[in-house]
Amino acid sequence: MGVWITIPPMRIALTKTFGFESAHHLPCFPEGHKCRRMHGHSFRVDVVIEGEVDPKLGYLQDFAEVKAAIKPVEVMLDHQVLNELPGLEVPTAEVLAKWIWDKLKPALPLLSAVRVHETCTSSAEYRGL
Ligand SMILES: [Zn+2]
Repeated sequence: MGVWITIPPMRIALTKTFGFESAHHLPCFPEGHKCRRMHGHSFRVDVVIEGEVDPKLGYLQDFAEVKAAIKPVEVMLDHQVLNELPGLEVPTAEVLAKWIWDKLKPALPLLSAVRVHETCTSSAEYRGL
């Protein structure tokens, strides 16, 4: 039995959040800076997709599909020394946000932002520009 309602046109942004625990050191910082030393973070990443809601379905994209697209990237990053991963030789939150974007975009054409939270109060966002 179907539900016979029509959803008005609307543009929406959805966010799926995942986390991983990893170590890094940042040789790009000045001598003596604490971030040059090896240390770890509980990274949190917001993956934002954006587009027009399907007026017949009432949703943009199934969260489960987004989660499935994220999973291989999460596995690549979790419990790693990020500096050892190709493309993350300088694994700042900024570089990490673009790296994750590049990995996710083929599977998530509606991707509009990747926000990497390095701590509770510090994050970097990449929007593909
Ligand atoms: Zn750090």
